Amino acid sequence: MESVFHGFTDLETLNRDGPVVLTHGEGIHVFDVNGKAYMDANSGLWNNVAGFNHPGLIEAICQQARRFPGYHAFFGRVADTTVALSEKLLQLSPFESGRVYYTNSGSEANDTVVKMLWMLHRRNGQPQRRKIITRLNAYHGVTVATASMTGKAYNAEFGLPLPGFLHADCPHYWRFARPGESEQEFSLRLARSLEEMIIKEGPDTIAGMFCEPVQGAGGVIPPSEGYFEAIRPILRKYGIPLIADEVITGFGRTGEMWGSVKYDLQPDAIVASKCITAGYFPMGAIILGPALGEALTRVSEAAEEFPHGFTAGGNPLASAVALKALEVIETEGLLDNVRRVSPRFLAGLKGLAEHCYAGEARGVGLMGAVELVSDKNSKAPLDGRLQIPERIANKALGKGLICRPLGQAIVLGPPFIITEAQIDEMFAILQETMAEVFSDVGL
Ligand code: PMP
Repeated sequence: MESVFHGFTDLETLNRDGPVVLTHGEGIHVFDVNGKAYMDANSGLWNNVAGFNHPGLIEAICQQARRFPGYHAFFGRVADTTVALSEKLLQLSPFESGRVYYTNSGSEANDTVVKMLWMLHRRNGQPQRRKIITRLNAYHGVTVATASMTGKAYNAEFGLPLPGFLHADCPHYWRFARPGESEQEFSLRLARSLEEMIIKEGPDTIAGMFCEPVQGAGGVIPPSEGYFEAIRPILRKYGIPLIADEVITGFGRTGEMWGSVKYDLQPDAIVASKCITAGYFPMGAIILGPALGEALTRVSEAAEEFPHGFTAGGNPLASAVALKALEVIETEGLLDNVRRVSPRFLAGLKGLAEHCYAGEARGVGLMGAVELVSDKNSKAPLDGRLQIPERIANKALGKGLICRPLGQAIVLGPPFIITEAQIDEMFAILQETMAEVFSDVGL
């Protein structure tokens, strides 16, 4: 058991309880070595949206493995399945045309886009356009560049962010609005402050801005009303490309195929991963819209190539299961189910928010969070030392429910195949667990 070095794991709990070693899954449940079942209210890490044993997805991998299991996409070579996937992704995308570039993860995809932007501006005679804007509470990955783009919580141990990675405000109205400020006014203030940042830094030093349509690992934060409408024209005015990081929101999580469509981001490129293979295989994809796709092709031709690539990027096994996953999401009613059960899910969250130590319940589609506070009116956070969200997640685990503590919130993102009865069961466990934990700590 001690052979595995775990990242993103509370080592005190791990050393006390040991790892949860899993053997298989069935529908929205996973099973540990002792046969205990857990409902996974986080779809693994947002990605196992079609359940853990979908026969069609498994068969797609097996068929591809028998025919052509592995190849790269360098030197103008590419597997036929990867070509088919690219056509499918462009057809699903909000773009009229474009190009798709493949990686093995969301981090690699965002990191790649940074290099694409740097090369593009350099070749276009603006080598000084290198700064990247993201937002506080963002999560864009863990490579050196994408960790720098991610909010500060994950960076201190590594002496990051690197210089030139800027963080604009987080559009979380409930937490950051000033007294008396309407949601629209809040969004406009954030847009003004973004423009001030751009002007102060020098508009021609900014390479691009990355936004998650709904911030995920920052605590599930849907944008405040009017936020993207307010920032979009500012980015256009200064010629700053907008990249939508749809690693979580892509392929239906918000109830729309793309978060960019739901919130009208009008991005220049979309970064996708996670659900693209329904969690069955590593894959990241960058869908470049027409303008960025053409511009990057042009400068790469001038440079003779785009000098970048991952050995396993665009490999046929990932492509085959991705093609199948996209078909499953569309034709087996997964997206429809997100829309159908979302009201029940959001109502369940609201139910949790009635607890006296719950501040805000927020969410969209099948992603949500309930944020805990020590005082509903002042919104003062709970004493972090009490580790209430961690206690809730640990206790829920004992009752067979996997949920995720994030800061002072509990985050939920169940698989797209979840039923209303399973949603009710999930919230019944959470209600009971929250009551027990607050009583355990004497609150
Ligand atoms: N972007 C977003 C919005 C994410 O949520 C994540 C992962 N949670 C990433 C990027 C990084 O993806 P990966 O873990 O596949 O590198």
